[in-house]
Amino acid sequence: MALSGLEIFKKLPKTNCKDCGFPTCLAFAMQLAAGKVELDKCPHVSEEAKSELEEASQPPILKVEIGNGDDAFVVGEENVLFRHDRTFVNQNAFAVNIDDSLSDGEIEKVIKKVNETEYERVGQILKVDAICINNKSKDAGKFKDIVKKVSSLTLKPLVLMSGDLQVLGDLAGELKDKKPLLHAATKENMDDFIKISKDTGCPIVVRGETFEDILSLTEKIRENGIKNAVIDIGKRDLKEDFFNQIILRTAAIKKKNRLFGYPTIVFPNEMAEDSLTEALIASIFVSKYGSIIVLSNAEAENIYPLLVYRQNIYTDPRQPMQVEQKIYEIGNPDENSPVLITTNFSLTYFIISGEIENSRVPCWLLVMDVEGQSVLTAWAAGKFIPELIAQYIKKSGIEEKVKTRKLIIPGYVAQLQGELEDELEEGWSIIVGPREAGEVPKFLKEYVS
Ligand code: SF4
Repeated sequence: MALSGLEIFKKLPKTNCKDCGFPTCLAFAMQLAAGKVELDKCPHVSEEAKSELEEASQPPILKVEIGNGDDAFVVGEENVLFRHDRTFVNQNAFAVNIDDSLSDGEIEKVIKKVNETEYERVGQILKVDAICINNKSKDAGKFKDIVKKVSSLTLKPLVLMSGDLQVLGDLAGELKDKKPLLHAATKENMDDFIKISKDTGCPIVVRGETFEDILSLTEKIRENGIKNAVIDIGKRDLKEDFFNQIILRTAAIKKKNRLFGYPTIVFPNEMAEDSLTEALIASIFVSKYGSIIVLSNAEAENIYPLLVYRQNIYTDPRQPMQVEQKIYEIGNPDENSPVLITTNFSLTYFIISGEIENSRVPCWLLVMDVEGQSVLTAWAAGKFIPELIAQYIKKSGIEEKVKTRKLIIPGYVAQLQGELEDELEEGWSIIVGPREAGEVPKFLKEYVS
């Protein structure tokens, strides 16, 4: 169990020097116990106390890294039950399952699909994170061949599922540099699994149907110093597994129970008869609280909504998504092309730039830094007002790029028109654009005709 704030306080220097940014050692200790600060914020803590406090300074859900290189992913490190309490730290991973009973051709098709699945949305790349290979055939030789084949066809991290410890151990040894996740340690094979994990450094899944099963397994891996572990609990029943996830997360975060403080893996692919139901179940585990979610396929109609939903859930609510303040050239504009302005809220930028592209009218799009707020919010906050817009226009360099002195502003801030003209002087006139982004293509076509 984690230490309480008072227990941590007893091990701190108690000088109240404030170097950690907190007014007292006690205040710092309370924040450390709640997992809201890192121990290294106190530069005066002794080495002895540091090692004792290391446990308390770890997040309630341990961090686990799967895979290697650019395609590796991290799960865990969560500190809160609800995103609005602070933020979620590491987004869940999506893994696509391959049964080793599939033909070579079918496997190649799935791998190609997974490798090629990639979408750009509001400046971020959305993709599938991993491939799960299931030794459904129970044929060790076949499983080995297919794992090696898949490993040669993709850089995605692998989840290897087999009840055959010998073959899992062999593959972990051969692929240890790729750090595959090994599924699964159970009450029956735990000692052998611990040896494999220690020998290879590969992360492991602990599998049990009940909380008692999981507790006995996580207790054992802790005694053996293994931290790279993921929990698989339940009977592949949606209702039960949904509550299991909530209980695990609540016990780890609210009760500070370290034995439940691991990321989890869930299997919607084993809970549904069809892809739509599977996607619905997967979306439930995106919210609560699957860390690795295994799907049966990466077909666009199933995976894309899940990727977008994950992006929404795991966006940090404290930091508006923003783009860089600069002049964006859309479609090779020239000195006579229209000039538009908007704010640097990512969603606003991507919607407007997308609609300008749709219009096929080359344009200059000025994006002004208002700390990632939308047009109306920034105006209401006094950040998108005539005086500041005029300052930005003058220093942006747009006057060197265009002959025109016409600036198109968003229709929602039409009231800025007169004052902005006064602020800009030097022949600028302000044109009020449409209120809705969807009207931009029609507006631009008429504007240049
Ligand atoms: S830096 Fe360390 S010693 Fe100083 S107030 Fe913070 S916890 Fe106490």
